[in-house]
Amino acid sequence: MGSSSSSYAPRTIYLDVDGKVQKVVFSRHCSPCDIKELLCSSSNIPRNTAITIVNPEGSMVSIDPTMPTNSANFLYKVVPLSTSQPEEKEDMFQSMLSQVAEQFSRAFHINELKSEVTNRLAMLEKRVELEGLKVVEIEKCKNDLRKLRDEITSRGGGSLSDDGKKVTPRRDIPSYPKYTLSQETIEALKKPTFDVWHWEHNEMLSCLEYMYHDLGLVREFNMNPITLKRWLLAIQENYRNNPFHNFRHCFCVSQMMYGMIHLCNLQVSDKLALTDMGILMTAAVCHDLDHPGYNNTYQINARTELAVRYNDISPLENHHCAVAFQILALPECNIFANVDPEAFKQIRQAIITLILATDMAKHGEILESFKQNVDNFDFTIAEHVACLRMVLIKCCDISNEVRPTEVAEPWVDCLLEEYFMQSDREKSEGLPVAPFMDRDKVTKPTAQIGFIKFVLIPMFETVMRLFPQIEELMVQPLRDSRDHYEELKQLEDAMTEGSSFMIKFRKGMKKCE
Ligand code: 5GP
Ligand code: MN
Repeated sequence: MGSSSSSYAPRTIYLDVDGKVQKVVFSRHCSPCDIKELLCSSSNIPRNTAITIVNPEGSMVSIDPTMPTNSANFLYKVVPLSTSQPEEKEDMFQSMLSQVAEQFSRAFHINELKSEVTNRLAMLEKRVELEGLKVVEIEKCKNDLRKLRDEITSRGGGSLSDDGKKVTPRRDIPSYPKYTLSQETIEALKKPTFDVWHWEHNEMLSCLEYMYHDLGLVREFNMNPITLKRWLLAIQENYRNNPFHNFRHCFCVSQMMYGMIHLCNLQVSDKLALTDMGILMTAAVCHDLDHPGYNNTYQINARTELAVRYNDISPLENHHCAVAFQILALPECNIFANVDPEAFKQIRQAIITLILATDMAKHGEILESFKQNVDNFDFTIAEHVACLRMVLIKCCDISNEVRPTEVAEPWVDCLLEEYFMQSDREKSEGLPVAPFMDRDKVTKPTAQIGFIKFVLIPMFETVMRLFPQIEELMVQPLRDSRDHYEELKQLEDAMTEGSSFMIKFRKGMKKCE
């Protein structure tokens, strides 16, 4: 029996190492690991390298004590396993990952979002650095965060308007105390001289509630008095704390409407129906709901969600109106719940028309159509009445200057504060800025003179042709206010001239020295 064939005999392997024949002998008691180490050292390869063996035909040969032997004419080659292989796999994996990430990123606009967030942060930081955020803006940020938190935690409970604002369902009896309004307050409430700054929110709510009862609207629409309270509370909650477009402005417009109804005797004459009164009052109460404090021009230029939703067509007014009907859609707040569906359709249409009419971009058009029929006005023609309703809500909406100076003047500060908030933001966002909103260009007198002379007086004088009784209590105060601001302007101009004279004078004095 030849020793070479014996399974107990050492095994001999012939290797091709760099073109030279290398003979390797190992016992059958060696482990595959031992053999691999032996093969490595025989081939000048580090001991622990992973290797494989291939025959001249390119086939792999297993490495173990029983591995097939060969001859010097049929040499095996030791091939280190490619160390680049795992790296290639890693590269492939990484490239796949980045492709997937890119696709996700594209699908979710992650890069755009990232750069938007970065830009906004940078802008905010810049503003904080340069001028400090105003308290109202900080409050607004806090408010937005609070709303976001509420929305997240309350998904599934309560109903949400489509911009995420929560319209809280209220089934309990509203908590605002019932104020017993004094006879003095009740009388004052009917006049444009009413001091709108004197009252807290709860008191204004009670006044509004009183107006609905007093006008006979609760009876006319068969309103549940508790529903009226809940509706008013929901209205108040859906006005934001803007400097100007807030719940007090809503109250002013509604109180002026109530005042005009009395002054023009609309509630006792057979000129307007009680339904008209309900439409006018409800449109006034709802007309600026959820106003964000930035006007339509800003909405459109900044391409806000509202502008996109309403295709740049009166985005704010459309929104006020939508929020109004979202509130009325809550059964516990629906003051028109007992009105038959056909009548509700009419009321809804008329309220929509009135709220949309408060967009000042339509001012010229609405006033012109009223002028067409004011001199032969006919209360039996629906079109005439519809036009009058629009002019009435417009008058009330911009009626601050009709009020006594001490009541009216603080509103100008509020309006300018809101204007400046907008123009500052427009500047920081690189958007166009209207000169009448620019803190470097506008003052209280310049803001009011043009508005009173070219917007207010022409409109109120037109209404005066139909209701001459408004002259004393509404038109005359406007003329007085115009004169007051013109005097203020002259004073302002004199002060500016004076100070520029002083500057020149001082320069002259220095030259003489
Ligand atoms: P609102 O936004 O209140 O529905 O529409 C009225 C608009 O008329 C206001 O946004 C504001 O631009 C303008 N306006 C109202 N009252 C005054 C005022 O007393 N002075 C000036 N300059 N503008 C006013
Ligand atoms: Mn308004």
